[in-house]
Amino acid sequence: MSVAAVTQRWDGFLAQVRERFGQIMREAEEGCAALLQQTSFDPQPMGNAWTAIELRAKQLESKIEDTWSAQVEQAFERAGAPPPAIAYERTKADALRDAIEVERERVRIKIWSDAGRALHARAIAELGRPFACVRCTAPLEVPFTYRALNVTCPRCRNVNGFEPGTFMRAGEVCVHPLSEEAAWPAWLAMRQAERAWRAARPVTIHHLKAWERAQIEYWRAYLSARARLLPDTAHAFDADLRGRMRAFYEQMDRERPWIEAGRPRDLA
Ligand SMILES: [Zn+2]
Repeated sequence: MSVAAVTQRWDGFLAQVRERFGQIMREAEEGCAALLQQTSFDPQPMGNAWTAIELRAKQLESKIEDTWSAQVEQAFERAGAPPPAIAYERTKADALRDAIEVERERVRIKIWSDAGRALHARAIAELGRPFACVRCTAPLEVPFTYRALNVTCPRCRNVNGFEPGTFMRAGEVCVHPLSEEAAWPAWLAMRQAERAWRAARPVTIHHLKAWERAQIEYWRAYLSARARLLPDTAHAFDADLRGRMRAFYEQMDRERPWIEAGRPRDLA
């Protein structure tokens, strides 16, 4: 086979994987939303379904790698492709795996966040009557939270207790994905900073600082969103942020550029 023919077959294979993956994700989005409705808003069966879907997606990701090393690389070598050309063809596999990984995360977060919103809507319907001020009967906005909360009446300033009820409490499993959803742009930036660090030769303090800042940004966005959903976690924000960054700083204590720069932590 000529190099052109091998390239064509390889591109065709990658396009097929991309198409198949897209199909699985579309089915997942529709299927999970439907399943939640069918099971009277029990998130457990939906969770099982998603686990199975995620496994299929991961198998596709491994198939890219397996196909490359078992067939494609040799085919390029036999066709007489020069090493830089083979290296370039390999980057196509990495790019697709990367795109699939990001999209799989995005869909997981969306499915669970949509479930959280559905449970919230269901809980409001379950209240049966509008949430109103017990003193002046002014209608109050139902807070998007999964915990009991005090809501101040905008008209008479009376403090009303809000009890989220069974459905809303069941939605607490969605707090994590909803927080991830709010922090999504920061997650992408954090991922990019980590990849830049892994690809860097040599690693400098600038790569490490960029990665540190991106992680702090991410956890700030995540924990802020979580504090809105679970107001009782707000007081622990700083401690939680330090906790999430601990592993990173431990790792940095073994990185030479970090040590030589005097361990310049942004977070005390
Ligand atoms: Zn009132």
